[in-house]
Amino acid sequence: MVFRKLGIKEEIIKVIEEENFEKPSEIQEKAIPFVLEGKDVIAQAATGSGKTLVFGAGIIHDCKHEERIQALILVPTRELAEQDANSLRKFSKYNFLRTTVIYGGVGIGQQIRNLTKADIVVGTPGRLLDHIKQGTIDLRFVKILVLDEADRMFDMGFIRDVEKIIKNCPVKRQTLMFSATMPREIILLARKYMNNQI
Ligand code: AMP
Repeated sequence: MVFRKLGIKEEIIKVIEEENFEKPSEIQEKAIPFVLEGKDVIAQAATGSGKTLVFGAGIIHDCKHEERIQALILVPTRELAEQDANSLRKFSKYNFLRTTVIYGGVGIGQQIRNLTKADIVVGTPGRLLDHIKQGTIDLRFVKILVLDEADRMFDMGFIRDVEKIIKNCPVKRQTLMFSATMPREIILLARKYMNNQI
């Protein structure tokens, strides 16, 4: 199992075997070792590249089921929030981590209840910021922050919200950024909020 050589946890290997993934995708092979070392990583990766397992492996490595938010994934759309959350639930099914989604256009009450039990949160910037303003999300224990489809968040005008959210996360954390394209704004964002990124 080539995935084992990357250092991936046995519980995730079990899921990978069940899913019949034959070998790591290019980005998985290149990025997972750095992610597991705790390095900040910025990667050019489109949907379908297998990027979710890259950050998923890092998150599942570092997080425990303790009902406090240890990983936060920022995404541009509710569809991607659901997709990432479903993949993370699948990859973490033997680690019993609880993943919840946060996005606008739906009631906030259930989200508030879910947030009190979550280990991993996947959300869109606007609604996440609402929770921060209302004090209904506790980001003090975040160890891993992921920006997924960063270029789309920029295109959709979310960058100021993203920056506000980043500033509410602990300074000592691992930051992972994925973007299909690498415009100047994304490089600048990485320089501003990441440490010695690879
Ligand atoms: P992603 O780019 O993370 O959204 O993944 C795209 C799809 O490819 C998802 O359905 C994954 O479950 C699947 N996938 C991820 N990694 C691999 C792999 N190494 N081999 C085969 N399929 C994979």
